[in-house]
Amino acid sequence: MRLARYFLLAGLVIAVIIIAASCHQTAHKTKKSIVVTYSILGSIVQELADGRADVTVSIPNGLDPHEWEPSAKGIETVNNADLIIQNGLGLEAGMEKCLKSARDKGVNIFTASDYIEIRHVGPGEGIPTGDPDQIIGAADPHLWTDPLMIKDIVQALVPVLKKKLGIDVADRAASLSTRLDELNVRIADAVSLIPDENRKIVTGHESMGYFAKRYGFKLTGVIIPSLSSQAAASAADLAALKEAIATNNVKAVFSELGTSPALARTVGNETGARVVELNTHALPLDRSYFTYERELADTIVKALK
Ligand SMILES: [Zn+2]
Repeated sequence: MRLARYFLLAGLVIAVIIIAASCHQTAHKTKKSIVVTYSILGSIVQELADGRADVTVSIPNGLDPHEWEPSAKGIETVNNADLIIQNGLGLEAGMEKCLKSARDKGVNIFTASDYIEIRHVGPGEGIPTGDPDQIIGAADPHLWTDPLMIKDIVQALVPVLKKKLGIDVADRAASLSTRLDELNVRIADAVSLIPDENRKIVTGHESMGYFAKRYGFKLTGVIIPSLSSQAAASAADLAALKEAIATNNVKAVFSELGTSPALARTVGNETGARVVELNTHALPLDRSYFTYERELADTIVKALK
């Protein structure tokens, strides 16, 4: 009889453990999932959600967002998201079909560029007419190079995360906004070391427009005359670029993800401008947006001051 009571008690203890474990599992499964298309925006969303939602990034960090296409598994992840956060303005060109199909299936999509002041390609930026992606007036997707655009996106996400996912991130948004303001001041201070006559930017493709606008640089030319790294440069484009570099006495050419190293070298050799690697589209080792943006500014200051 005593033995039976012992087994009954042991059974009860095991049952309680099993129920507790399964409750824990259920709680884990009910966490909402956010899929962000690219890593730089993903790191900000990760900091904003702070564990209150699962955040996944589609385009692996370090791969070119202008060309990346999802695998079958990548498409499944997008379709199963509670919320998709995309950049928009054609950045995720290789994901467009997959994102459209997710939208058609009823998945919530937040488009970051809907909440910022969009920059358009202006005259004299080294962009010829013709290709719709290159014409003057085309919308520039590289919004993340300006920390105050990221701040606008953070603030726009607060009510969306509350309404669509039921998570409150107002406290996190407030502290992130303060840090983004501080980052902006730090960059403005750092670039003030660059003399006015050196504030000219030549990059691999036209990726630094928001940064240039915020911190007072002139976009003087690009190796690939496009908002996407996936276009090509003609001989006439290259001749015009070399002339722009010489006329404007440009000190450095910034080579980036998707730029042909040989082409950058040729431009550097023929103009005397220094070729400098600039990380414009990927997170650094610590996966922090703040480190990314500080390094971006520091590389420019070092090359042009
Ligand atoms: Zn780009």
